[in-house]
Amino acid sequence: MRRVWWAVPVVLVLVGCSQGTPSAERATAEPGDRAAVLAAADAADGTTDHVVARCAVCGLGMDGVAEHAATFEGYTLYFCSAECRESFEANPKAILARLAKQR
Ligand SMILES: [Zn+2]
Repeated sequence: MRRVWWAVPVVLVLVGCSQGTPSAERATAEPGDRAAVLAAADAADGTTDHVVARCAVCGLGMDGVAEHAATFEGYTLYFCSAECRESFEANPKAILARLAKQR
C-alpha cells in the first residue's frame, strides 16, 4: 500500500502538464473553420465562384492577380505578388487562421 502513494503526485503532474501545454493544432484553424474562412474570403470579392480574387496574405486588402494564383482545399486564391503567394504556400493554414481572426 505504501508504494502506491508516491505515484499519486507523479500522475497529477503528468495530467497537469498535458492539459497546460497549448496544442500546436489549436493555433491553426480547424478544417471546418478553414472552409468558413475560404467561403467568406470568396464572397468578399463579390462572387462566390470558389475564386478568392483578393490577396489573403494582405488580409484581403489588396487585389490579387491570376498570374499569382494558388489552389487550396478546392479554392483558387489570387495573390497580389509572388511573395504573397509564396508565403501562403509555405504555411496556408497559418495565413487562413490569421484571416479568421480578422473577421
Ligand atoms: Zn498580398
